[in-house]
Amino acid sequence: MTIEERIRERRIGVIGMARSGLAAARLALRFGGKPFVTDSAREEILVEPIAALRKVGIEYEAGGHTDRVLDSDYVIISPGVPPTVPIVAKLRERGIPIFSELEFASWVCKAPIVAVTGSNGKTTTTTLIGEIFAAAGWQVEVCGNIGRPFAEIADRVGENGVAVVETSSFQLETIADFQPRVALLLNVQPDHLDRHRTLEAYRAVKYRICENQQAPDCFIVNHDDPQIDLESIPTSATKQSFSIVAPNGAVTYIRNNTLGLRRNGSDEDVIAIDDIRIKGRHNLQNASAAVAATAALGVPVEAMAEALRSFAGVEHRLEPVETVAGIKFVNDSKATNVDSVVVALQSMTTPVYLIAGGRDKGAPYTPIVEVGRSKIKGILAIGEARDKIFNDLGQAFPTQFAATLEEAVMKAFELALPGETVLLSPGCASFDMFENFEHRGRAFKAAVAALRNGKKKNETLQG
Ligand code: ADP
Repeated sequence: MTIEERIRERRIGVIGMARSGLAAARLALRFGGKPFVTDSAREEILVEPIAALRKVGIEYEAGGHTDRVLDSDYVIISPGVPPTVPIVAKLRERGIPIFSELEFASWVCKAPIVAVTGSNGKTTTTTLIGEIFAAAGWQVEVCGNIGRPFAEIADRVGENGVAVVETSSFQLETIADFQPRVALLLNVQPDHLDRHRTLEAYRAVKYRICENQQAPDCFIVNHDDPQIDLESIPTSATKQSFSIVAPNGAVTYIRNNTLGLRRNGSDEDVIAIDDIRIKGRHNLQNASAAVAATAALGVPVEAMAEALRSFAGVEHRLEPVETVAGIKFVNDSKATNVDSVVVALQSMTTPVYLIAGGRDKGAPYTPIVEVGRSKIKGILAIGEARDKIFNDLGQAFPTQFAATLEEAVMKAFELALPGETVLLSPGCASFDMFENFEHRGRAFKAAVAALRNGKKKNETLQG
């Protein structure tokens, strides 16, 4: 069936009015389909999306799902809609196909797709891959989970371009024909189990990224991750792996402090580790993965090196903010679980004052003790989780409370010496004090800017 036949004149239900739902509905309209959008939220809180739908004449309902969506040829479901809601059960009962926006958008994408999934590092690696293609002069669109839906750009990038798509496991749950030219699996972390219940089920969903691939498509996984057994994964793709050690058989590896690439039977030096701008072992993995993924499409090492030298990372992920009176401030607001705090601390090369806390997620903070022993000089605990942080970590490190993030920044600044780092890596959700982690990160940066504008350190101490 051609793309036109799959979409033109078809009744296409869209569940969820968030950005990806809107983008899917608009895409359906561009290809002559008949979209109908439904959302369970009340009309008052959907003012903006409703205005956007009205503008282009797309039909919709809000405040609950009536049976009207059952009158669809197929349905696009937003990744935020749990598969357990009754409307999904009704659709399944009637045998109406349900697809993710990722699947739907891929139908109209003429460019090769590089799809990136994994438990951690998706946004960083997806963005970096985009930078490498750009450095190589490709027309590249970076999209997906990253905040810009695939459906928004899928039909706008030409055959000679490339679409780099951050792919969540929620989106992979409802694919049918999705066939990326390159699929990249970064890692499988056993702790991301809230929706998928068992590790096996979670892994199986991640593996779906390669189920429709055919050689010469490439499926590239992390050689160093013991949770991934490449041999056992059924796919017709060419299997490859990336690494940051020097195993036999991996496409990328580290040797003599240099990131190397094995391609067409010969070895190429990509870049010296010290010249890679994003720091830390996890970022080295992300860099290695990005090199392997772009190598699969023939990108020259010069473009890889150029991007790796200049790419400073993504906002709110170990983002260097600035240095005030010799003290470095780092914004890792995206670290919303304890694992991410551990990763952040591993990457620190100076003594650290850690600002942590927010809305607790139930896991203990004690994994911070071991990695923090040689790094943490003090902790500033904020938000709802502060008593638990004090109980879990107060014995191991000097721990103080701060009523606000601004107060924590001020206290840390007073305590730290030149050459040391103040790290915001909360290990908690942000919703007790902020709208989201971005809001928290911006508040941190504003507090640091206020310090810089206000005073030199000794003035603060006297004041
Ligand atoms: P995602 O999009 O998968 O959430 P990000 O690139 O936004 O990942 O990074 C979020 C956080 O995850 C980072 O601040 C860092 O603490 C951690 N992280 C990044 N890359 C990796 C990796 N390769 N392995 C483990 N943790 C990582």
